[in-house]
Amino acid sequence: MSPKSQIKGLKALSSTIHEKNISNDFYKNALKSFRMLKANFIPKDINSIRRDWIYDNTLLVNDQGDPFKAPRRFPPYAPEFFCDLPVTNNPREFKNIFKTLIPSINLSFMKLIYSDNGKDEYQFQSAQKSLSLYKASFKDIYNTLLADKKESTSIWVEKWNDSTHMGVDEWVYIWKNVHCNMLSPKVQSSAWETIHRNYMCSYFASVAFNESPMCKLCGREELTRTHIFLDCNIILNIYDHFLSFTSRLVDIHHVNLLERAFGLKIDNPDNNSSLRNFINFSIRHIIFRNRNRKFGDPNTTTQKMIKKIGNFIQSELYTKFKLACINNKIDKFKELFLIDNILGRIENNALVLVDFD
Ligand SMILES: [Zn+2]
Repeated sequence: MSPKSQIKGLKALSSTIHEKNISNDFYKNALKSFRMLKANFIPKDINSIRRDWIYDNTLLVNDQGDPFKAPRRFPPYAPEFFCDLPVTNNPREFKNIFKTLIPSINLSFMKLIYSDNGKDEYQFQSAQKSLSLYKASFKDIYNTLLADKKESTSIWVEKWNDSTHMGVDEWVYIWKNVHCNMLSPKVQSSAWETIHRNYMCSYFASVAFNESPMCKLCGREELTRTHIFLDCNIILNIYDHFLSFTSRLVDIHHVNLLERAFGLKIDNPDNNSSLRNFINFSIRHIIFRNRNRKFGDPNTTTQKMIKKIGNFIQSELYTKFKLACINNKIDKFKELFLIDNILGRIENNALVLVDFD
């Protein structure tokens, strides 16, 4: 493609040929998402596109809806840019492919629609509505994308579907749990990594590098990628230990497979469930981050982990309390973290926490 044929800026999105020239993954993905919107570039008038190359450009399409392919050679009458259109030479001059190509391009050019509102714009169609992109908010675009979203084919979604029969619709609540702002970024990150099944563990090391498949925490063979947070005896014991707090928040006496995988589903704002998730995601975070260390026999490991998790939850709560004091949001802190004084209380303006072990 010659340099003069380049389409600059956003208009590149209207061309099909530019994709392979994009070397940056970010822009490639942006382009893909943009294509999902099936956005159409609508020029404000002919002046706004007069220097655009007319081939491989989705603004101009043939009867089948495809952009025109550039001919190998350009006789003097062959158009190159929009400003060359329509071609008004006598058709008798046209030779070979140009006998049909030029009338077809001319016809397509006549069908071009302009926005007539003084701005170039992108319009896209969704199942619900048509939006003009230059004035649409990001939220509108995002909602439209979500509404049009096809069933996810992400590998972890499929795998979770196999083991938990988790429907695709449920992922909205799962991501809400992961991004709940009661969780600090490192806890969110552990939740994210475990849900994506994207981390090194004994199971993977045994499959990929022929290393020992034994779990460093419980000492048993890891049979799955998710052993450490779904099936490991250590985390199961610890969930049981913390039931003395979590079951007072939500009266269920067991942390079942779905909760271990994704946290409790929260339909309406529900502080009790959110706090239970805060505790259980903290447990998962500490176990996950310590999965590659050895602490001794299973009993010792469990005791040491409970200590670590208790310390971690306390330090998280102290930090959040300090922030709440600075921001004058102590009431909000109490409402979220001190439900029924299960985890602690405020005394003489100081936070007093319970012992977790
Ligand atoms: Zn284990």
